[in-house]
Amino acid sequence: MSNQPSFLQALFDQGYLIPSGVPGLFGRGEAYEAIVSAFDGLISRLVKDDGAEKISFPPGMSRAHLEKSGYLKSFPQLAGSVHSFCGTDHDHIELLREIDQGGDWTRGLVCTEVALTPATCYPVYPIMAARGPLPSGGQVFDLQSYCFRHEPSEDPARMQMFRIREFVRAGTQEEVLDFRTAWLERGRDLIKSIGLPLDIDLANDPFFGRGGRLMRAGQREKELKFELLVQIANPSGPTAIMSFNYHQEHFGETWGIHTAEGGVAETACTGFGMDRVALALLRHHGLDLAAWPEPVRETLGL
Ligand code: ZN
Repeated sequence: MSNQPSFLQALFDQGYLIPSGVPGLFGRGEAYEAIVSAFDGLISRLVKDDGAEKISFPPGMSRAHLEKSGYLKSFPQLAGSVHSFCGTDHDHIELLREIDQGGDWTRGLVCTEVALTPATCYPVYPIMAARGPLPSGGQVFDLQSYCFRHEPSEDPARMQMFRIREFVRAGTQEEVLDFRTAWLERGRDLIKSIGLPLDIDLANDPFFGRGGRLMRAGQREKELKFELLVQIANPSGPTAIMSFNYHQEHFGETWGIHTAEGGVAETACTGFGMDRVALALLRHHGLDLAAWPEPVRETLGL
């Protein structure tokens, strides 16, 4: 047994992350945020001429939109919905009594119109659809949001609430596939430039249940998803810090998104796990920012 504290404990000890008592739910210290901001700035410099429309989303999205997107068919185990108290004075007394007695005060809550956003690109498809056909040549979006996935874990790189910055391309099949191919190269170069050893591999999403096995196999067979992986804190292997996803016509058909020529639009997205990148940097370059390799500090502008 090593006397070294775990990576997570060391992050707590040095104030990078602040525990909340719930696995995967953390406060972020100033130095940690400086790393996230520096990497965010690096991405912004890379994409400055892409002509992307930038949108920042809150961590919640329309529950109706999440339902229509099909997320609950594939990942019910990861989803989160927001419930609120909508009762009377009498119901309130009951609720307080339940809390006093250590009972379940949440039983009478009502589900609101808000669900927690599971991936940064989900809220953008209904926005695209509402605007009518895409402009000629399609469109690129630069999105950011906190996301939620219900997978409590002791692995600091598997948070329940975390940030993803995503680029979403909508257009013809050729436009969308060119975008993904270009990002595979850009992503590799970008992560190399901050001194992280990486692999890129074919991947699949954690589709739920019996039907999920077939969907996982299908996703791999059609090469719909790649991940860029870096060893962080999972003893059984590296963690994805970027993903490259080709949705074919899934969102175009679901939402009625059309190209300027009138066909069903295809979409692809590339996501950066911003918290995972920060953790990967701390893991590989150490917890003393001043001692990070000079080229890495320079690239990040730290
Ligand atoms: Zn996405």
